[in-house]
Amino acid sequence: MRFLAIGECMAELAPSDAPGEYRLGFAGDTFNTAWYMARVAPQVSVAYLTAVGEDRLSQSLTEFMQASGIDTRAVQTNADRTVGLYLISLDNGERSFSYWRGQSAARTLADDPERLARAMSDADLIYFSGITLAILAPDKRATLLKALREARAQGRTIAFDPNLRPRLWESPDVMRNTIMQGAAVSDIALPSFEDEASWFADATPRATAQRYLDAGVMTVVVKNGPSPVLYAEGERFGEVPVTALDRVTDTTAAGDSFNAGFFAGHATGQSLADGITYACALSREVVQHRGALVDADLPPLPKG
Ligand code: ADP
Repeated sequence: MRFLAIGECMAELAPSDAPGEYRLGFAGDTFNTAWYMARVAPQVSVAYLTAVGEDRLSQSLTEFMQASGIDTRAVQTNADRTVGLYLISLDNGERSFSYWRGQSAARTLADDPERLARAMSDADLIYFSGITLAILAPDKRATLLKALREARAQGRTIAFDPNLRPRLWESPDVMRNTIMQGAAVSDIALPSFEDEASWFADATPRATAQRYLDAGVMTVVVKNGPSPVLYAEGERFGEVPVTALDRVTDTTAAGDSFNAGFFAGHATGQSLADGITYACALSREVVQHRGALVDADLPPLPKG
């Protein structure tokens, strides 16, 4: 089983315990999912497709991926650019984020259709997100969607998390439109109800699921914070309860780690409900720790 995630990994500067000092890390939605996949499902080959620069920071990112067990053969380099950066500020425990990613190398990840096709031809399960689409120029979005459509036609499974981030898009209409084009090339969609309700006016998780089914997706899994996870497979709907925590430490990467747990279950032949149950256990652990990439003991993946 070979898993390929496509998107942007950024450098992260997080406040350390010493005031005014920051710790360098790396994170990004699709990358976080790849990182958790490599942690919990070492039997799966995990690869990441992105673009980085040729500077020392870009090299450090690539080395970090490799040390995390991620195959970097699909990481392209672009000498004119470097990795995007974000900085976390803390104000009375509240985190806020500042981004420098407008010119990041990752924005060129879909510039070469042949490279995309080559990387995808090597994968069984291919994962991308709304953020992956948002950071690309409109013509490169079309290039990526075409490559995904062709990969799907050749039997690859395509998975998509809409991850709605209106600030990354030209307008809410372009976001909604392009997200549904992403859905139309996908077999699996993993939306989060709160975001979908805000931007698509879905009244219920079931309405969210139905909208993605209508777009051509076969399997939809609707995350909903501490509320039950709704899933739909063709005509069949079901729910998996969440053992809700009263207090979470940091919801960063809740959805990303959930997706990793779900893909790990999928990759090892678990049923849809069992995969979701494991995804809930994994993300439940992650939200009890600070940061996107949680090094704590993670719940082991049940044997498939
Ligand atoms: P996103 O990060 O995409 O907004 P959600 O907030 O819906 O995703 O959370 C993803 C998953 O994380 C949920 O489906 C659930 O399994 C887990 N989770 C989130 N909040 C809690 C909580 N308070 N208690 C237990 N699990 C939680």
